[in-house]
This record gives sequence, structure tokens and C-alpha cells, in this order.
Amino acid sequence: MRTLLKNGRILDPSQEMDRLGDVLIEDDQIVEVGDISDGSDIDEIYDCTNLWIAPGLVDPHVHLREPGSEHKETIVTGTQAAAAAGYTTICCMPNTNPPLDSPALIDFILDRAASPEAGGVFVAPVGALTKGMKGHELSDLSSMKRAGIVAASDEEFPIQNSRVMTQAMETCVQLDLPIMAHCEDASLTHDGCMNEGAVSAVLGLKGMPRSAEEIAVVRNCLLSLHTGCQLHIMRVSTWGAVEMVRQAKFLGAPVTCEICPMHFTFTDEAIGDFDTRFKITPPLRTQVDIDLLLQALNDGTIDCISSDHSPHASHEVDVPFAEAPFGSAQLESTVGVTLTMLTHKGIISPLETIRKLSTMPAKILRLDAGTLKPGETPVAQACVIDPNCEWTFDRNRSFSKSKNTPFHGMKLKGKTMLTFCGSEIYRDALFGEDRYSIAE
Ligand SMILES: [Zn+2]
Repeated sequence: MRTLLKNGRILDPSQEMDRLGDVLIEDDQIVEVGDISDGSDIDEIYDCTNLWIAPGLVDPHVHLREPGSEHKETIVTGTQAAAAAGYTTICCMPNTNPPLDSPALIDFILDRAASPEAGGVFVAPVGALTKGMKGHELSDLSSMKRAGIVAASDEEFPIQNSRVMTQAMETCVQLDLPIMAHCEDASLTHDGCMNEGAVSAVLGLKGMPRSAEEIAVVRNCLLSLHTGCQLHIMRVSTWGAVEMVRQAKFLGAPVTCEICPMHFTFTDEAIGDFDTRFKITPPLRTQVDIDLLLQALNDGTIDCISSDHSPHASHEVDVPFAEAPFGSAQLESTVGVTLTMLTHKGIISPLETIRKLSTMPAKILRLDAGTLKPGETPVAQACVIDPNCEWTFDRNRSFSKSKNTPFHGMKLKGKTMLTFCGSEIYRDALFGEDRYSIAE
């Protein structure tokens, strides 16, 4: 079986490649990238004129909610949503119920992700750093690593005690395992539900100060510098946090960071009339933060873009703002929002866009992904994106179980058309039959 992606703009940051050309997939492998003639030995041809051909996208930060909260999302629905968005590898977070703190639970995730009903993407589990994510006693990270975790994190319950965090980092250095850290000093955010500032004062809601995030970023960066532990900071939101990451990198700490689309799209004013779709942690900040986050995206201080897909059921978010859970469904809007808010506005180039959505997260978490180089991934991982497709995001057409998205109804420019993980796992309805042909 030979499949040809014909005449696209090939964007592969792993080879610094930005050129027009073709990609040939034979059986489940990429075998050639370049100028390929569509001879009689080709079975299927996809016309990719005016489209991007890129490595399958890699999301370092996804909540699949299984086990324990299958009413929000399941591994099957979450991976289907990922495939429809162009992702071929996603990292799933450990804050499930029970938390992913044992090898048996890692086996369960990998089995479910490989089931025929699932979306056909690779799921790379992130294990809980401490038992039950309680922040006291380290999990059995060594046996979880053997079971397949790619990083460790206590996610929304970050380790507060600096001695425990030091011990965690020293252990992860031994195991050669990255730590992913949500940075928050809980003594400062206690009961807070949005950014602390003028808007929280007007709304009468308890705020979370920016210092809560920045203090935790500083502490974690310093511990990374002194232990040598690879640290990936999850979704930065303040200009101060980014400045601390910049300094840590300058000092030689093995630190990287990500941002999610909400933090470069909305300020805390979006909460408006107590709209719970805009409740996220760390919270939406201010325009000054966004301006400096955009600069950090442009200069590379922010390494990659995650979706922070955090699905919830409608009845759970249809409550007073202070009682609503944090986070919203993001997988299927991330490509469109990133292209609309960053690429088309000239903040990052098309090649940098793919680097932040694929090659960098793969590199940070050492995943066999993020490249079109033949033989570098277990199976072909590629996506085709129409950068100029104008569409309106409609939550009712999403694969995710969760409909709580702040991007519902937003006009976007840029959409995933095809996803390949071994074989084709997604084809968008807008990718017309006239662009796909079975060769005679
Ligand atoms: Zn998260």
C-alpha cells in the first residue's frame, strides 16, 4: 500500500525543512520526503496543494479523565478528539481517580489507548510524582517508568514542601525522568478562583495573585538548576513567570515551558458575567501579560504549546463561578486558535508553529514523534493542515464528550484536514473527494 501526499508545503522542524514537495507513506511508514513522481505504483493520492504537510502533532498536556471520571471524557473519546485535531501523540495527566501512581494503572491506560475503538493515536502517560498526589511520599517511579511513563507530575496538586520536591528531583535525575510542574504556591492561592486584580475586585471574587505562580516557578527552577533535574513548566501565564524561566535557561538550568491557547487569547476580563468556561488555573491574567507572553513565544523562551485539554460535564460547570472546576475542553480548537492568534498575526512563522505543536514537545519528553524523517518514528506520524480554512468552532461537532469550551462560536483560520498514524486516522469533511484519488 503506497500513499502519496502530493504537492504540499512540507514543514518539518526536525530537519529545518520548509519547502514544497511530497511525502510517500508505504504500508505504515514514511519512506520518502521530497519530489516524488506519482507513477503507477501509487495506490492513493492526496492533493495537498496550498496545504501544510507536517509531522503529527504532539500534545504534552491532556486530561483524559479515565479512570474515574468517564462522564467527562474517556480514553476513547479523548483520543478521537486528538486525532481530529492532528495529534498523533498525546501525554495524559495522572490526576485521575485513582491517580496514576502505580504500574498497573499505567498498563490500564496503555491497553485502553491501544484498543480498536480508540482514536489510533499514541498515548504517553505521565505518572504521579507522589503517592495519591498528596505531596508527601514519592510514588514507585522506577517501576512506573518500566511500565511506560514519560514524565512525572503532581499536576493540579503541586508539591508544596521544598524538601520533598528536592527529593523528587534527585530521584528523577537517577531515573532520567523529566518532571512536569504546575507551579503554584497553594498558601497564596487558597480558595482563589481567578486572577487577583481590578477585575476580581469588581466581580467580588477571591483572587489568585501572580506571585503564587512566580514563587513556585522560581523555586522549581532553582531546584532544577541545583539538582540537574529536567523540569518542564506547565502553562505559564504571567510575564514574571516567563522572565524567571528566561533567567533559569540563561543560568543553564534544564528548564522548558509551555503555554496553552487560553493564556495568549483571553484576559481576565473575558470572565465578564461570571462565565465558568474562562475559569482556569493558573488564571487568565492581563493584557500586559499577553503582550510579554507573545514576545516569549516569538523569541523561543516559551518552548511549546499544549492544549491543557481539561474536559468537564455540563452540569459541573453550570454552577456559581467560585464552585466551578478549573479548565475546559481544548484539543479540537488548539490548531485553529494557534494559527489565528499567533501564525496569521506574524508572532511565529509556520515552521515555528509546527515546532511548538510537535517537534519541541516530542524532544522535551523524548517521544518517538515530531518528525517526518523516514524510520525515526515507530509508524508514520503526519498531519495535513489547511492554514487558510476559515471556520467557526462548534462544540456540538466535537469528538470530546465535554462541551465546556470558551472557543465555541469563535471564527478561526486554520484547520486540520488529515491525520495519519500508521494509516489515515482522520479525514475532515471539508477535505473534498476531488482532492483524494485512488490511482488506477
Ligand atoms: Zn492540566
